[in-house]
Amino acid sequence: MGISQNIQSIKNTLPPHTALVAVSKTQPAEIIREAYDAGQRAFGESRPQTLLDKASKLPADIDWHFIGHLQSNKIKSVVGLAHTIHAVDSEKLLTALDKEAARRPCRQRCLLQVHIAREETKQGFTPGALRALAAAGALARLPHLQIAGLMGMATFTDDREQIRHEFRTLKNLYTELKQTCFSSDAGFCELSMGMSSDYAIAVEEGSTIVRIGSAIFS
Ligand SMILES: *Cc1c(COP(=O)(O)O)cnc(C)c1O
Repeated sequence: MGISQNIQSIKNTLPPHTALVAVSKTQPAEIIREAYDAGQRAFGESRPQTLLDKASKLPADIDWHFIGHLQSNKIKSVVGLAHTIHAVDSEKLLTALDKEAARRPCRQRCLLQVHIAREETKQGFTPGALRALAAAGALARLPHLQIAGLMGMATFTDDREQIRHEFRTLKNLYTELKQTCFSSDAGFCELSMGMSSDYAIAVEEGSTIVRIGSAIFS
């Protein structure tokens, strides 16, 4: 099947409250253009320089989602350009992003990445660290950031129940923070979880954004 059919058939399985980010990080601008012409407007990139290059070549009404690990010294090319930064995983990065957004000025939308997988390698706050940060009021002191929700990646495994358990853990933490720290912030509304291999489970567990690459582009 082609890109357009792939996008359509994935969209047909998503409930109305779940958005599709087409992860284009390994694709050249011409291929992204093909998806754009098929109506797709949200794309995911994981490197600051590649994001800049592609954004300069492609239509301005694309919503670029930065989904990669972001280093504090690379934020200048991402803040103000990314619609949403998905993988904010440290207090240091939050502070740096807030400072850069203040300089623009803009209000940068971002998601907090939570470590839910068994693998050591996947980045993110532990649920405990995030609770502690929220309880200390640290998340409320970032006036130039819109903290729009949580993001997570499940373990790379065939064990569907393990994946479901991890997504459910993330959803529960999201609900808890929404009822406490973000109770008066309607902008805290996103749960970014689910990739090509596990998005169906993520949707069942309440995902509002799925990030899908290979199931669209290969
Ligand atoms: C690459 C990537 C995806 C997409 O993965 P696929 O398996 O190709 O769908 C989603 N999220 C993140 C954070 C990624 O780095």
